[in-house]
Amino acid sequence: MKEYQVIARKYRPQRFSDVVGQDAIVTTLRNMIRSGKIAHAFLFCGSRGTGKTTLARLFAKALNCSNPTEELEPCNECASCREITGGHSMDILEIDGASNRGIEDIRKINETVGYSAASGQYKIYIIDEVHMLTKEAFNALLKTLEEPPPKVKFFFATTEPHKVLPTILSRCQRFNLNRISNDAIVTTLQKISGDLKVTVNEEALRLIASMADGGLRDAESLFDQVLAFHDGDVTVEAISAVLGVMPRDIYFDLDRAGKEENFAAAFDIVETVFSEGKDLLHFVEGLIEHFRNILVTKLSGKDSTLLSLSERDRERYEESAKLYRRDQCMQLLNDLVKAQEQIRFSPCSRIALEAVLLNVLRSHHRLPVDHLVKELIELEKKLADTPESVAEAPQTKVPASKVEAKREPVPRAPAAAVAAPPKVEPRPAAKSPAKAPSAAPAKAAEDVANVEDVIKQQRRFDTVLQFASVELGGTLEKKSNPSRA
Ligand SMILES: [Zn+2]
Repeated sequence: MKEYQVIARKYRPQRFSDVVGQDAIVTTLRNMIRSGKIAHAFLFCGSRGTGKTTLARLFAKALNCSNPTEELEPCNECASCREITGGHSMDILEIDGASNRGIEDIRKINETVGYSAASGQYKIYIIDEVHMLTKEAFNALLKTLEEPPPKVKFFFATTEPHKVLPTILSRCQRFNLNRISNDAIVTTLQKISGDLKVTVNEEALRLIASMADGGLRDAESLFDQVLAFHDGDVTVEAISAVLGVMPRDIYFDLDRAGKEENFAAAFDIVETVFSEGKDLLHFVEGLIEHFRNILVTKLSGKDSTLLSLSERDRERYEESAKLYRRDQCMQLLNDLVKAQEQIRFSPCSRIALEAVLLNVLRSHHRLPVDHLVKELIELEKKLADTPESVAEAPQTKVPASKVEAKREPVPRAPAAAVAAPPKVEPRPAAKSPAKAPSAAPAKAAEDVANVEDVIKQQRRFDTVLQFASVELGGTLEKKSNPSRA
C-alpha cells in the first residue's frame, strides 16, 4: 500500500508561481536571480504556516537549477532539483534551529562551510527557527555570516524575528511574509479538492480558512483531518463536527432570539454547545467574529472586502445587521472581549457563558447613554423653565430642597467625562393638595397643578438619572439630609 502523503507536503509549491499570497517577495527573489546580485544571508520571517521554509527551499532550488526556465523557475527535472525535492541534496543543508541550538552545532557548520558545493553551484544552509539559537551560537555564527566563503549562502526562517540578535539581523536581507488571506486559502483549497476529486462547498472551506488564522499549512492540515473522516461531499456540518466548531447558524439564531425577546434561547444555545462537546472559548471567539461581521456590514455594507464570507452569509449578515444599532454592536464587542477572559478563568464557565448570552439578548432593550443624557438635559431645561412663582410660592410649601435640586449640575458630558457618580438630593413626598390654603381657590388649584407637574418631571428626571448611572456603571449616592426636609 502506497504511503499517504499529507496535503501540505503533497501540494508544497515546487515553483514560484505556486506560492500563495507572497507576490512581492517572489518578485524580489526572481529579480535577484536575474541580476545575479545575491546577498550572503536572508531572513524569512512570518507567522506559522505562511511558507517561510518553502520559499527558502524554492529559492535554493532556483539558484542551483542547471536548467531554469525563462521565468527563472526551477526546472524540477535536473539532478539538483530532484535531489532538493527529495530532501537528499548534499548542497542544501537544512538545520533545525530548535534542536541544534548550541555553540557546538554552529562550530560544525563553521568547519564544513569551507568545502565547496558538490555540484559546483551554491552551498546553502537553511536554518529553521533560527531564533532558538543560543547567544553563544549566534556569536559563533557572526564571523562566518560576515564573510562567508564564495558561493555559500545562509537562509534563516523564524516566527520570532525580535528574538534574533541585532548583529545577525543587520547582516541579513529580511523578508516579512504576509499572513495569507482567507480568500487565497479558500482558492487554494478549492484547487486541491478539485485535484482530489472531492466536493466541498465554499462555506465549508471558509470555515476551515477562518480557523487557520492566515496559515496555509494549518488550513491544509485541517482539511486533511476533515477528509480523513468523510467520504463524499464535505459540508459545513461535517466540518463543524470534525473540528469541534459551531456552524454560523447558531449565532444567527441568537440574533433572532434577541429580536423576539426570547431570553430562554441563551440557555438553549449553551446547552447545545455543551452537549455537543464544543470548546466554549472557540464558541465565544466565533461570537466575537459574528459581531465584528455585523458591525462591518453596518458600516461598510455587505460587499465589504473586510468580510471573508460566502455570498449566502453576506446576505444573512445584511439581515442580522438590521436587528442591531451601531453603538450596541460596539458595546457588545467590548463586552465580549472582556467576557472571553472571564470565561477562561471562571470555575463555572457554563454559567458565565449563559450570562454573556443573556447580556447580548438584553442589549436590545438597553438605552444608549447619549440618548439618556439628551433626555436628562431636556428634562432639566423643562424644570428650569417652570415659572418662579410656582416654585417659590410660599402657600404651596415647596420644600427648599426642591428649588435647590433643579439647579443641580447634571452630567452632560459623554460617559468617559463623568468620573464621579452623580449626586441626587433626597426629595420628600409631595405635600397633599388638600393642605393648600383656601384663600384664593382658583389660583391655588392652578398652582397645585403646576407643582404636581414639577414633581412629576423631577421624578422622571430621577429615573432617567438612575438609568444613566447604571449604563455608565456608576452608582447613585443618596445623601440623606433630614434637616432640610
Ligand atoms: Zn532544475
